[in-house]
Amino acid sequence: MITHRCHAVGCTATVPPNLLMCRRHWYMVPKPLRDEVWHHYRPGQERHKRPSEAYLAAAKRAVDAVAAKEGQAALPLGAAPVASVR
Ligand SMILES: [Zn+2]
Repeated sequence: MITHRCHAVGCTATVPPNLLMCRRHWYMVPKPLRDEVWHHYRPGQERHKRPSEAYLAAAKRAVDAVAAKEGQAALPLGAAPVASVR
């Protein structure tokens, strides 16, 4: 069983593989961005490990939005949050 963790910077909460973040962090993401992440989400992507580029881009923006709210440094460019596809 692979442990999947919240993608928020510094968060170690365990979340279901189809979710990007734990509940607390997810609801820190602006609603339009949450909608965008789901829009690009493909059912089963956490199993076939091929999320779309659009999903990864939206996911990164969501992670950055939470990081900004929490006052953390954003992920460096190119460090896409890929934990959900491992
Ligand atoms: Zn979290």
